[in-house]
Amino acid sequence: MDRNRGVSDSVLSLHDSVTHGTAARLAELNRGLAEDEQIIDLSIGALDATTDERIDRAVADFVQSKPDVLHAFAPVRGFTFLRHTIAARASRLDGMDYDPETEIIVSPGGVKGSLTIAFHALLNPGDQVIVPVPNWPHYPDMVRLHGAMPVTVMAPTESGLTPDALRGHLTDHTKMVILGDCINPTGKVYTTAELTELAAVLAEHNARREAVGHSPVYVVFDCPYEAHVLHNRAQTFAALEAVLPNGGRCSMRPYTVTVTGPGKTYGMHGDRIGYLCGPADVVKATALAQVNLTSFASTYGQVATNAALQPEMDEVATQRALMARMNLETMFGALGSAPGLSVRRPQGGYFLFVDLSAHADSYRGLGHDRADQFLLAEARVATISGRHFAEGAVGPAVEALDHVVRINCGRTTSLLTSAGHRIRTALERLSCCPRGSTKL
Ligand code: PMP
Repeated sequence: MDRNRGVSDSVLSLHDSVTHGTAARLAELNRGLAEDEQIIDLSIGALDATTDERIDRAVADFVQSKPDVLHAFAPVRGFTFLRHTIAARASRLDGMDYDPETEIIVSPGGVKGSLTIAFHALLNPGDQVIVPVPNWPHYPDMVRLHGAMPVTVMAPTESGLTPDALRGHLTDHTKMVILGDCINPTGKVYTTAELTELAAVLAEHNARREAVGHSPVYVVFDCPYEAHVLHNRAQTFAALEAVLPNGGRCSMRPYTVTVTGPGKTYGMHGDRIGYLCGPADVVKATALAQVNLTSFASTYGQVATNAALQPEMDEVATQRALMARMNLETMFGALGSAPGLSVRRPQGGYFLFVDLSAHADSYRGLGHDRADQFLLAEARVATISGRHFAEGAVGPAVEALDHVVRINCGRTTSLLTSAGHRIRTALERLSCCPRGSTKL
C-alpha cells in the first residue's frame, strides 16, 4: 500500500492475515492436480464437523415466522432473550451470575467484534497492552488500531505467562493484559492456581494504582475454545479472588472482561457473533462504542446463537470437542513416532504445535527457511508458521518459531491420516537423503 495515497498510518502498520485467503491460494496451487496430489489444508482453525441442524432450523423458522423482526432494528446490546440465554450458559459453564440487563453485550463480527468493542471502551492512545506470545496473531494489530501499544511477552507453552514475567512488564502505562482459558496455538490451559497467581500480581498493582486515583489494569479473558477444554476446567478469571500482600482479598470481577462466541464451539464461524460479559460500567462503554461502530449483531445470527446456547446443546458442544480431540490423537500418533519431531500433547484445543527444528538444517538445504514452507512444498500439507503467532516480537525464542508449525486437527480423520502419512514420508526422505527429490 502506498503511503502517498493517504491510507492511515495505523492500517499501514497492520500485517496481512495468513489464514484468510488461504483457501484461494491453495486452490490456485491445486489447479489441475489429481485429488491425491492436492495440498491438504491444515491451516485455518475450523472443525469439519457440520453444524447441528437444530441451529439451522431455528434460523429457518425465524425467517418464516418473524419477517417483521428479521429485517428490523434490534437492541444495541442484543435481543433480551439471547442475553438471558448467555447469562444461563455462563452460570452453567463457569458458575458466574451476570446480569443480562447490564453485564452482557452481544456483538457483530464474532469474538473479534467483542474484542473490538472492549478495546474501544478501554484503550487510550499510548496505553500498553500485555500480550503473551505465541498467541492469536490479531491481538497486537487490533491494539495498534486503537493507538495503543502491544507489549509482547514470551510465554512458553508449559508455563504460559508467569507471575514474574507479568510483574516485569507492568508499567504505569499498562491498561490491559490479554489472557484466556486455552491458548491458540499452544493449547496451554491455565490452571486455577496459575491464574490466581497472575491475579495476585494484578490485584497488588491495581491497589497501588487506584490508591493514587489511576485507572486499573483490566484483563481481557478471551475464551473462544472454552468447549475444547475437556479436563480440569479452571475457574474463569472473573471468578477469582486474589490475596493481597496485606492479607486482604480482591475479586477480579471488576477488572475482567470475558469474551467468547459460538464459532468454535458449535461450528458457527460465518454467523460472526461474539459476546462479552463484564462489569456494568465497562459494558455500558462497549455499548456506546458499538452503537457508533456497527449498531448491533444481525437478527438471524442472534437467533442462531440463542438456539446453540440452549442447555440441550451442551452435549453437542462436548461431542464436537471429543471428536476434534480424537482426531488430534490420530495426528499425534502419526507424528509422535516421526524421526526427530518434538510433539507435545496440548492440554486443550484442537491444534498441534509441532517443533521441526531438528530438521531445519536439512530443509534449509532444500531451500526452505521455515518449517511451514518445507511441509507445503515437500509434504503438500498447509500449516501455519509458529512465527506468525509472535508477530512483532523479537529475540532468539521468536526466531525459533520459524521451525514450529500449528496443525489444525479439526479436520476429518481420513484427511488427518493422509496428512500424517505425508509429513512422516517427507521427514523420512529428509533424514535419509536431504537433497533428494521434492516429489511425494
Ligand atoms: N480469539 C482467539 C484466541 C482466536 O483464536 C480467534 C479465532 N481464531 C478469535 C479470537 C476470533 O474469533 P472469531 O472468528 O469468532 O472472531
